[in-house]
Amino acid sequence: MKSLIVTEIYKPGSVSIPVLLLLFFTFFSSIHTGKAQEIDILLKGGHVIDPKNQIDRNMDVAIAEGIILEVAPNISASNANKIVDATGFYVVPGLIDPHTHVFVGSRDGFADGFSSVSPDDITLKAGITTVVDAGTSGWRNFPVFKKQVIDRSKTRVLSFLNIAGSGMTGFPSEEDINDMDPRMTSLVIKQFSDIIVGVKIGHYRGSEWTPFDRALEAGRIANVPLLVECHLPVLPLEEILDRIRPGDIYTHSFCTAADRMCLLDEEGIIRPFVQEARKKGVRFDVGHGGAMFHFAIAIPAMEQGFLPDSFGSDLHRFSMNSGMKNMLDIMSKYLNMGMILEDIIHRATWNTAVSLQREDLGHLSKGAVADIAVLSIKKGNFGFIDAKGLKMTGDRRLEAELTIREGKVVWDLNGISAKEWDKN
Ligand SMILES: [Zn+2]
Repeated sequence: MKSLIVTEIYKPGSVSIPVLLLLFFTFFSSIHTGKAQEIDILLKGGHVIDPKNQIDRNMDVAIAEGIILEVAPNISASNANKIVDATGFYVVPGLIDPHTHVFVGSRDGFADGFSSVSPDDITLKAGITTVVDAGTSGWRNFPVFKKQVIDRSKTRVLSFLNIAGSGMTGFPSEEDINDMDPRMTSLVIKQFSDIIVGVKIGHYRGSEWTPFDRALEAGRIANVPLLVECHLPVLPLEEILDRIRPGDIYTHSFCTAADRMCLLDEEGIIRPFVQEARKKGVRFDVGHGGAMFHFAIAIPAMEQGFLPDSFGSDLHRFSMNSGMKNMLDIMSKYLNMGMILEDIIHRATWNTAVSLQREDLGHLSKGAVADIAVLSIKKGNFGFIDAKGLKMTGDRRLEAELTIREGKVVWDLNGISAKEWDKN
């Protein structure tokens, strides 16, 4: 900008050479002064895992004015207002949970209801800085959801919009085809394109493809992915996977449930049409929930190289105190199942951001929003429970030490960012 000013004002005869030299001097000295920009928080000595930028080593992270200022070895602490010793911890982009139900309210059920939960109660203490609500609202009640939850939460709350006009209101209203309007759904998605990332089809017990086709139509008009939550007991899985597009997301991937066909056949082998769907670009989310993740499916799938693209928790009031605790618990399960940490972080951050077409999130690039999780790996004897109540033992558990949302500390388990009380 400054060099542009020099170019603009330098007209022969209008500016003398000494004035021009002075301007250049000011320009270069301002670059020099730029190095001295104040750092709000400096995370020192942590092991940074930032898969998008292929960083997997010890680095410092400087944060200023809510964004990432720099990620580099040995950043000077002389201009830092707060220094956090992150030695022994993993410093990663804030985690993204792509499948939650957070349209909490006082009604029965999920939409504006008591079965949903308030995101800040659960997320920040687990290193999660972004959640995506999985179609708890539809186009009719999205404004209520926005005002009541999205605008008031510290957690970034994004949303899939249910093709059912009022979202998850339960049977029969949620399955009323007459209230599945692709035009209105896509209009509201476009109106709130900074928050709404896709369409969802969830519960439908009929044999018609109309709800599915309308959800796809809304996704096509708004140019966003479709999340298939797939409580669709009559519609065959093969045709569902055939109809959905590259980039669409299938959740509850690793379970046996009465309302859908399992991805594995009776011999425990990934069905060929499931492999084909992945090849064409369909994304597969965990969607653990209270009933939708079973080690007996997830472990054989992993042994065949079929891994989840994201670790959606299907967080709601009844899932969070069962086998599933939060998304970090699901990541710990995969750590103990043998997935390497760098790969887990990749799927929980950048890969999920790509699924959501939100490439502004899930990384620590210079200038990106400073959403950060500082994680530790606890070692000991742990037990992990699936949605059938069955246990897998393990020796490592991920824990969130510190969570930073838009440059502010929002969770600090052991006070690593705090001053000693007697040295204040
Ligand atoms: Zn769900």
